[in-house]
Amino acid sequence: MDRVDCIVIGAGVVGLALARHLALKGREVVLLEAEDRIGTGISSRNSEVIHAGIYYPAGSLKARLCLAGNRALYAYCEARSVGHRRCGKLIVATDAAQTGALRQLRSRAETNGVGDLQWLEAAAARHLEPNIHCTAALLSPSTGIVDSHGLMRALRMDAEAAGAAVVLKSPVLGGRRLPGGLEVKVGGGDPMTLLAGRVFNCAGLGALALARAFEGIRLDNLPPLPRRFAKGNYYGLSGAAPFSRLVYPVPSQGGLGVHLTLDLGGQARFGPDVEWVDREDYTVDPRRADAFYAEVRKYWPGLPEGSLHPDYAGIRPKLHGPGEPAPDFLIQREDAHGVPGLVNLFGIESPGLTACLALAEEAAR
Ligand SMILES: Cc1cc2nc3c(=O)[nH]c(=O)nc-3n(C[C@H](O)[C@H](O)[C@H](O)COP(=O)(O)OP(=O)(O)OC[C@H]3O[C@@H](n4cnc5c(N)ncnc54)[C@H](O)[C@@H]3O)c2cc1C
Repeated sequence: MDRVDCIVIGAGVVGLALARHLALKGREVVLLEAEDRIGTGISSRNSEVIHAGIYYPAGSLKARLCLAGNRALYAYCEARSVGHRRCGKLIVATDAAQTGALRQLRSRAETNGVGDLQWLEAAAARHLEPNIHCTAALLSPSTGIVDSHGLMRALRMDAEAAGAAVVLKSPVLGGRRLPGGLEVKVGGGDPMTLLAGRVFNCAGLGALALARAFEGIRLDNLPPLPRRFAKGNYYGLSGAAPFSRLVYPVPSQGGLGVHLTLDLGGQARFGPDVEWVDREDYTVDPRRADAFYAEVRKYWPGLPEGSLHPDYAGIRPKLHGPGEPAPDFLIQREDAHGVPGLVNLFGIESPGLTACLALAEEAAR
């Protein structure tokens, strides 16, 4: 049986960032990916926003790693010529109650160390974005957008240049502790068994099921498998984008609200909403359009009828169900689950893309 120092499971943005980090530290790394390409999972079905760290509970991993990840990601994109734009965003309140919520959001962001938010009265917001309707807004200059696929390609190139092996079509089936390390069983067309010193489970939506396939694991406080999937649907906008910055409503339960994001080509899309579903399904139901028109018109009354079309959907790797509070990122080590050498990354939902470089450092530590 071949022995390697570290195995990383899952070539999404988190597994790629971790493989790169470990390889640059001089570790021998094999990155195993079930699919025939990198980045086909959650990492290719999101808003591609570089978040500033505004929303998350003080002291949480999400808050800390988003802030650190934001800075690290901008620096990385500059250094490696990955497409990105620090376009900024407005979070908008559209009635008096929301204006109060916006103030609370500002103090939370300040507690988290986000020091660059600017409070805008309605007229000042309209001066920046003439099409906006709001009672007040927060401007976040350090929010931006990134080409997620370009980012993943760069991370892979760095990892491979530092000696990591990226092995595709290699689904990990499970593992067990042996005296010399962790035995990892790999399926696919070319099944094999490897022995590793450390195994990092970065399997995204598959991470819980995979962890349960390691002999002797204890996952007492976690759901057996995702009971329901928190799908997020997107609608594209036909025609020119009405704003030059991202526009977010005040967050709603389960998500950040139906917001407007831009891609690097300047095209606008709206989403994601939150739709709890029973299975992994990425079709966007055209009947959801009415709800999108209603949500978007709260901050953009000029949205023309017939201009939205179903675009794509993603699924959040949530550890909780509808109505329950969102837990933090969970980086679970052997003291928590009882399998020496195994590190599980669970619940890496938003802002996982923003935080990927910081998450990699944290998990490696
Ligand atoms: C709708 C939506 C919008 C979002 N928007 C943003 C945003 O704007 N900004 C932001 O910062 N974050 C955002 N996120 C979060 C971000 O996309 C994720 O946190 C991040 O992409 C997670 O990456 P990952 O590598 O953990 O998972 P994935 O990208 O899913 O990677 C996991 C990989 O593991 C592989 N795999 C699974 N099982 C196995 C196995 N047994 N063996 C081998 N390989 C396996 C899969 O094929 C996959 O390639 C959003 C998420 C969603 C769902």
